[in-house]
Amino acid sequence: MTQTDMPEDGRHVVVTGGGSGIGLAIAKHFRSQGARVTIMGRGEARLQAAAGVGGFCYQVCDVTDDASVAGAFARDQEHHGPVDVLINNAGGVKTAPFGKLSIDDWHSALNLNLLGTIRCINAVLPAMKERGWGRVVNIGSTAGLKGYAYVTAYTAAKHGVIGLTRALSLELATSGVTVNAICPGYADTDIIRDAVTTIADKTGRSEEDALKTFTKTNPQGRLIKPEEVAAATAWLASEAAAAVTGIALPIAGGEV
Ligand code: NDP
Repeated sequence: MTQTDMPEDGRHVVVTGGGSGIGLAIAKHFRSQGARVTIMGRGEARLQAAAGVGGFCYQVCDVTDDASVAGAFARDQEHHGPVDVLINNAGGVKTAPFGKLSIDDWHSALNLNLLGTIRCINAVLPAMKERGWGRVVNIGSTAGLKGYAYVTAYTAAKHGVIGLTRALSLELATSGVTVNAICPGYADTDIIRDAVTTIADKTGRSEEDALKTFTKTNPQGRLIKPEEVAAATAWLASEAAAAVTGIALPIAGGEV
């Protein structure tokens, strides 16, 4: 398939961690553009519910497990053909001081946030190269561009995702496959809303005050909307962004 042949509608898009939060917003955005969207994650009930409402397909997939990733992508491509667009969004964070993180915690953080991304790229890249077209968008974080205290393992893993993005984009520069990263600041998802409630409960602060823990790093003084991340992701995956590769785009209200 040549670049000019590539249809915007009907593309096969896979979003890991697409059953919730930012990933779900991304899946909805691509679906609204007419793409065929597969969401992946570990929890089948959540995937099934999101897929039913959003008009997606789903595959149960644990990105920390080689066999699970290989199986999920093989089943998905058997039904829907090669993947045109891969959104590596599955991720997670454990908050703790450096001294309280065990080596197992480090393995887990790197396995989920960095190696999970690599496993999924491995599952789709050979076919993208063969067809001469593909888009990989890695959902990094502002923690991939700067440091934050108490999330060292997550920060190191997300820096790894940005390094991977930059280096791989150069290897693939003439292949028709672009590799980019999006770096959201604190976003308005359940994780942050739950954290606000926890902080308010534990400290006796109001929820409005507790929210400032997260909004104060953003010069715009607010949380990022998942839909804002989705719109930027979709642009990076579009034909219009063919000349854009290897970037780490902050969606962060001026932070970093
Ligand atoms: P959510 O917890 O809502 O989303 C994470 C998703 O990843 C879930 O759907 C989860 O599904 C899936 N997931 C977790 N572990 C695995 C795994 N081992 N295999 C497959 N899927 C997995 O959080 P967000 O939407 O907030 O986060 C999405 C991405 O955005 C992450 O990469 C995160 O680091 C990044 N980000 C988030 C920010 C924020 O403020 N919210 C800020 C910056 C970056 P399941 O549990 O069913 O597997």
